[in-house]
Amino acid sequence: MSDRRGLLIILSSPSGAGKSTLTRRLREWDDSLSFSVSATTRAPRDGEQDGRDYHFLSEEKFKQDVVNGDMLEHAHVFGNFYGSPRKPVQAAIDRGQDVLFDIDWQGAQQISNSALQAHVLSIFLLPPSISELHRRLEMRGQDSAKVIAKRMQKSWDEISHWDSYDFVLVNDDLDATEAKLKSIVTAARLRRSQQPGLNDHVRVLHAEFEGMQ
Ligand code: ADP
Ligand code: 5GP
Repeated sequence: MSDRRGLLIILSSPSGAGKSTLTRRLREWDDSLSFSVSATTRAPRDGEQDGRDYHFLSEEKFKQDVVNGDMLEHAHVFGNFYGSPRKPVQAAIDRGQDVLFDIDWQGAQQISNSALQAHVLSIFLLPPSISELHRRLEMRGQDSAKVIAKRMQKSWDEISHWDSYDFVLVNDDLDATEAKLKSIVTAARLRRSQQPGLNDHVRVLHAEFEGMQ
């Protein structure tokens, strides 16, 4: 085990509020951050790669993984199953590496109530307005009008869980939100629970202190 423990950094928001963009920026800032590649039963979008963006699984394989306890959390979102594979997360945090999750409120709740709860940092992104959320989904140009309408319809369901997160950011100005996010991560890394190596350090300080008496 490393002298520090990894954080489980959970980012949630309604679709279009900026999770993927901010996740990308955080990973550019610190390439030691590992990203939890979710499993999903939805079809890949243009440009998405299996194993990089998602593990694209059949419903049968997904359900088997859940039964085997291989998912740290899982949920049904927009008519498809999504889940976070457990093993890579456990391995990363044992190595002292932080893991980023782009997951919905149901997954955030399950991880926050799990045995790993002491190491969870949960952050919710709110859009500046509902009309701006809609504009961003359209600007992204990834989804059909029908899919955008479905995502907008579900946005309130996601937003209504904003108050169960540790931190909440209104993603108005992207650079400002990025800076706040980095500050939050920097501070959380200094939590006592993330620095088990401090016990040894304090023991050494104590021996030195005693030696000077
Ligand atoms: P999510 O992953 O939450 O669905 P994205 O990160 O894909 O959202 O963002 C949706 C769109 O909004 C993208 O085109 C992105 O470039 C844009 N975007 C994200 N944050 C901002 C911001 N603060 N201001 C303007 N546009 C933004
Ligand atoms: P999308 O299909 O746009 O990639 O993702 C749709 C929604 O599913 C987003 O809100 C995203 O955060 C959520 N999601 C993605 N992966 C997971 C996961 O592993 N678990 C849970 N609970 N939600 C996920």
